[in-house]
Order: sequence, then C-alpha cells, then structure tokens
Amino acid sequence: MHDSHIHLALEPLKSNISDVVNSFIKDNGIYILTQGTDLLDFNETLEIGLKYNQTVQVALGLHPTYFEESTIQKGYFKNLYEKSLKHLDEFESLVRTNHKLISAIGETGLDYHQLSLNKTISADIKAQIIEIQKLGFRKQLNLAKEYNLPLSIHARDENGSSRCVQDVTQIVAEEGRGLLRGSFHSYTGNLKSLTDILDLGFHIGFNAIITYKSGEDVREILRNTPTDRILFETDGPFLPPQSVRKNKKIKEKFAQPSHIREILNTAAEIKKIDPKDLEKITDENYQSLFAPTPQS
Ligand SMILES: [Zn+2]
Repeated sequence: MHDSHIHLALEPLKSNISDVVNSFIKDNGIYILTQGTDLLDFNETLEIGLKYNQTVQVALGLHPTYFEESTIQKGYFKNLYEKSLKHLDEFESLVRTNHKLISAIGETGLDYHQLSLNKTISADIKAQIIEIQKLGFRKQLNLAKEYNLPLSIHARDENGSSRCVQDVTQIVAEEGRGLLRGSFHSYTGNLKSLTDILDLGFHIGFNAIITYKSGEDVREILRNTPTDRILFETDGPFLPPQSVRKNKKIKEKFAQPSHIREILNTAAEIKKIDPKDLEKITDENYQSLFAPTPQS
C-alpha cells in the first residue's frame, strides 16, 4: 500500500505525525510521498522525510497557485514577474542543494480554477499569472529532467473547461515527451485528456473522491485507466474518505495515509479485481516511478 500524494507538513497531519505514519505502517503501508508546495514548508517537509526515511519520501515543488498567493498585497499585484522569478530562483537552488534528499518534483502544474473564482482580478492580470504559472511549470519540468526525477502534477481547470489540462499535456510533450514521467494527481478532467496523459506515459493518482457519492466522473476515469497506470493518494489533509466524512464521532476530519485502504478497496470493486492483486500491481507502479534509486 502506498500514498503517492500527501502534505505531511500541513496541520493536523504535522502535529499527529508519528500516529499518522505508524497507523499506515501497521496496515502494511510501505511508501508515502509527501509534497512540498511553497518556499515555507520545504524545511519541514525535508525534516519529516529524514525522520521517517524508511517510509516517507519527499517531493519538492512550487504549487501553481503559489505565484498568485505570494505576490498579492491587499488585493493588488506588485512586481508580479520580478517576485515570481525570484521565488523560482530560490526554489531552483533549494532543489540543487537538496536533490539527493528528494524523490520527485511536486507538486507542480497549472491551476486555472482558483483564478476563475477570483472576481476582483482583471483579465490582463489573470493572463499574466497564467504565463508565470507556465514559466514556473517549464522550469520545474527541466529540473526533473536534469536530475532524472519523476513528477507529481496538478492540473485543475475552470469548471466546464479543459484548457488547463490541455496546456499541461502540451507543455509536458514539448519539454520532454518520453523523458518525463510521474503522476497526474487527483485527475478530474475528461476522457479525451485522459488518453493524452496516458499517451505521454504518465500515471493517474486516485484519491477518496472515488468513495464520494458525487465522484461518478472520477470513477469513470478509473474504469478507463489501465491498472498498470493507477496510483493511490490521499491528498491529505484534504479529501477524507466517505467513512470519515459521514462519521459524526470524528470531530477533526482529515485524510491520512491509512485511508488508502478504503480507497484501494473501493477501486478494486470498481475495477472488479481482487484488492490484494490491485494492491500488488499499484505498489509496483509506485515503486517503478518513485522508489529510491542509488544516486551518484
Ligand atoms: Zn496536493
């Protein structure tokens, strides 16, 4: 059992870290890939990776929404490009310094969803932010290529659109078709773009959305994803599974790696395959992408 996408440096996971990791191991959990998303959580993410290095691997990335969040001040954007380029430079040197401690670049990608929700940003600024996101994504893809690291990719569209996923697959193809590998985490797009992603050789990360009543679209994506391209993830602390969501006794509802068992069993039902077989295949998928390889 593996969790290919989680944020262990975020609360309430961080405060409960030893329980969180140990309950996963007790249930035969093998690998956790924790994701850094900004310049603030890098150190904590690396520390957690070092402390639990038998189980936890580290991905470092700049989340696409970070560029918007880190440059806005009282509703205005100042020095959008300069600040973003500075953050990208800082990120790059962090990766160069720590590349032996990391197993992937992520999470990185494009996000047009959050921008579409912000009604106060002008179309011109939105276009600039998207350009910066693309620039940042390309830089991170190139770092992944340089250090031969897999990716954990975030691609989230404005509702009803598929432009974001199309841009992501196009950029991945331009920067390194056949050279880049990794996971499209929490993919929620259409079946046409799913084919594009699979054609690029990438895997798809499935989380507790498949356990939700509202998750039919993602269950359909799962039905159309070959088992040798399936990965599991919790995206914790976000997206607790249905059993936690509806349990009134649990006050603090958050996703943690042990919830992979429920996600895996649900996926096995959907794919009509023995859960043990699915666990074995998907662990091999994880291992082929992210498992530690000797580095010079
Ligand atoms: Zn995430």
